[in-house]
Amino acid sequence: MKIGIIGGGQLARMLILAGYPLGLDFTVLDPAPDACAAPLCDHLCAPYDDPAALARLAEECEVITYEFENVSLEALEKLAGKCAIYPPLKALAESRDRLREKTLFQSLEIPTTRFLAIDRFEELETAPRILGWPFLLKTRRFGYDGKGQHLIRHRQDMETAWQALQGQPLIGESFIPFQREVSIIGVRNRQGDIAFYPLSENVHKQGILHISRSRAGDSQTETARALARRLMEHLDYVGVLALEMFELNGRLLANEMAPRVHNSGHWTIEGAETSQFENHLRAILGLPLGETKALQHTAMVNFIGVLPEPADVLEQPGAHLHIYGKAERPGRKVGHATVRAPDSKTLEIRLHQLLALLP
Ligand code: AMP
Repeated sequence: MKIGIIGGGQLARMLILAGYPLGLDFTVLDPAPDACAAPLCDHLCAPYDDPAALARLAEECEVITYEFENVSLEALEKLAGKCAIYPPLKALAESRDRLREKTLFQSLEIPTTRFLAIDRFEELETAPRILGWPFLLKTRRFGYDGKGQHLIRHRQDMETAWQALQGQPLIGESFIPFQREVSIIGVRNRQGDIAFYPLSENVHKQGILHISRSRAGDSQTETARALARRLMEHLDYVGVLALEMFELNGRLLANEMAPRVHNSGHWTIEGAETSQFENHLRAILGLPLGETKALQHTAMVNFIGVLPEPADVLEQPGAHLHIYGKAERPGRKVGHATVRAPDSKTLEIRLHQLLALLP
């Protein structure tokens, strides 16, 4: 059985690695000749919205999935009826526009930050009346890893932010002085069965995920799961869904959702009974979901821009190394390591040792 993946980056690569034991074959669609998933599967080297390449993918594959949100919805809609596409396009449409996404959260009574659409400079000038100070100005689309966003602390910041972002649809959001960031990774299969992983607690550095810790038994688990369940059921969702949230004074506020496998779930490869990658494949194929419980205390560290010396990581007790096969470049995710331990104290010691290896 063949699965088509739009995007041939590290998420596709880890999906493929999870699919091999299940006897699955893959084709990725990616315009980069050196896409890091390409050596593991068939590679259609064409733009993501290339009609001929998409038609071929639909013809060759049982199911099409995607590894990022900025896929052309219009191009995928043309494939409807020819091939199953999961997660459903409705989820893609909602999640790739921050304004639609937050409006959806609001309509489902999923708490979120205060927000408003900003299309003119005058709207930016009056935004603090609703958002307070400071606030964030973000592009509604194509923003990821903190790209396309400006923190506005004073009136003087407005002009600079406007110069940088104007011309694109924008959203203003209140800045949340959160105590921590968490995400919940859920999975729903074609039959409607749902499973959740333990909560991930995430630390970002310059807008990019730096560390995720699995937090089995966290006091916010049930609240986070209830919010994600509401979303999945509303969207008649199929696949893995990540919901990222801020915790502020004991409350969870949804920041964004990702209709795909997610970086804050990479720890599940070695840290959970079934990885998010395998469960995504099981879900989109209509197979029974795998057990999601954590095996041990687990944390994941992203390698951004450069890799540490592999032997240094591998000699750490409980550590597992993932190298994506991408050229090193500032700001680029080139690999990660997962570290496991029998208790939280040992995990922190091991994590500390791992972090000390970062260049
Ligand atoms: P995003 O691109 O929305 O995922 O934002 C990247 C990171 O910027 C988040 O993980 C937060 O650390 C920070 N951030 C985004 N939005 C807000 C907000 N409204 N208040 C405080 N921090 C934020």
